[in-house]
Amino acid sequence: MQETSIRSKTQRAIELEERFGAHNYHPLPVVLDSGLGVFVWDVEGKRYYDLLSAYSAVNQGHCHPRLVKVMQEQAARMTLTSRAFYNSVLGDYARVVCETFGYEKMLPMNTGAEAVETAVKMARKWGYEKKGIPRDQAKVVVCEGNFHGRTISIISMSTDPDSQGGFGPFTPGFEVIAYDDIPALEKALEDPNVCAFLVEPIQGEKGVYTPADDYVEKAIAACKKRNVLFICDEIQTGIARTGRLLCGIADEERDPAKRPDVVILAKALSGGMYPVSAVLSRHEVMDVFTPGTHGSTYGGNPMGAKLAIEALAIVKDEGLIANTQRLGKIFRAEMQKLVDQYDFVKLVRGKGLLNALVIEPRTAADGSPKTAWELCLLLRDNGLLAKPTHGDIIRFAPPLVITEEQLMECVNIIALSVRQFA
Ligand SMILES: *Cc1c(COP(=O)(O)O)cnc(C)c1O
Repeated sequence: MQETSIRSKTQRAIELEERFGAHNYHPLPVVLDSGLGVFVWDVEGKRYYDLLSAYSAVNQGHCHPRLVKVMQEQAARMTLTSRAFYNSVLGDYARVVCETFGYEKMLPMNTGAEAVETAVKMARKWGYEKKGIPRDQAKVVVCEGNFHGRTISIISMSTDPDSQGGFGPFTPGFEVIAYDDIPALEKALEDPNVCAFLVEPIQGEKGVYTPADDYVEKAIAACKKRNVLFICDEIQTGIARTGRLLCGIADEERDPAKRPDVVILAKALSGGMYPVSAVLSRHEVMDVFTPGTHGSTYGGNPMGAKLAIEALAIVKDEGLIANTQRLGKIFRAEMQKLVDQYDFVKLVRGKGLLNALVIEPRTAADGSPKTAWELCLLLRDNGLLAKPTHGDIIRFAPPLVITEEQLMECVNIIALSVRQFA
């Protein structure tokens, strides 16, 4: 009796989504209902470790009590003013973000894609007004395998056929080069019409592709030499995820010549409570925006601003950078044991608590596929949620509030599932 009513709850939710929702995602079959810290619960009451963290948006853990409190208080006070007026939180928020990340100015938006669009607009205008690029000739250099979001202009720079196919005509002005390839970058930068190089310090969606340790440093130097803006998309890698505040630079680096000109943040900026994104840069770049040239109704709203202040304070107060650094090393060492033990487990890569396990897809004796998807179903059955990318890669990115004991429990679940999968 219990069993049927439980099954029907899950079935009902899935059927409704499938029937009335657009099929632009292929979710793992589990229906989540609540979350706390590193755990989520499905509608049957079964508990799972969340090793996706909403694509690294809930670095601070699900429903962090401090964020819940701020949200409740601010919801009862004021949520939206628009930018037609000043509000009592945005100024404090802007200061906290600039001081935390070491930039002079910030521009608030909501989603990651909006912030990427903002950075591209800013770079183009900077190219015309400050670099002297002839009108409508500005180019932005991007990398193969990039993921920067889903708008028309952003998919115009994508090399993923699923993201791009059928959505043309595309926005011109992007040039794609190989990732983690400094000579290719130097060559592309010879074109005087290049205004910016936009790059992820680790390609998360591509499958946690981790470039050479000095890639960002060298790319920044190459851009400086050619008077080109280096735009770092830290939407997935930023805010302690890789064991640093920002993945692209050391926390203590304050020399402007060695830092990205522009940083894009979103996802964990609000700890998963509300869409909050931001573009950071220096005066000379940000000042190309003047009243009327750019905007967003919700961007900089007091609810999002207040949540972001608290979300950043939690990262600091709970020592999430140090925790992530330490546990990331343990996690990769444990995964390496699986790589050594099983032929079909190819490698582990990543930084901090943004890691991926690469497996070799196979076919079972009965002809059924054994890909990363099937392994993720096993993980789910064993109480851990992760999502495959590209059939052979599983990303593991727990909330950064995870403890060593919890992490080792996750390691045991992964090891058990891999053994069952072998
Ligand atoms: C998620 C993501 C984006 C897009 O963010 P949305 O909020 O989904 O629009 C852009 N860049 C990177 C690196 C991301 O991981």
